[in-house]
Amino acid sequence: MTQLPCSEKLAFDTKKQADAAAVVAELQRNVKLKSYKCNHCSLWHLASGS
Ligand SMILES: [Zn+2]
Repeated sequence: MTQLPCSEKLAFDTKKQADAAAVVAELQRNVKLKSYKCNHCSLWHLASGS
C-alpha cells in the first residue's frame, strides 16, 4: 500500500473539528491555519500560510 503524502499531517473527520483545532493553534502558537478537505485521504487537514 502506497503511503499517502499527508500521512504525517494531523487529520480530522470533519471541517468543524479542523476549524476548532485551527482556532486552538492560533491562540496557542499564534499561527493562522486554514482547514481544507484532502484529496488523498478524504479527511480534513490544516494548512498554514496563504
Ligand atoms: Zn490527507
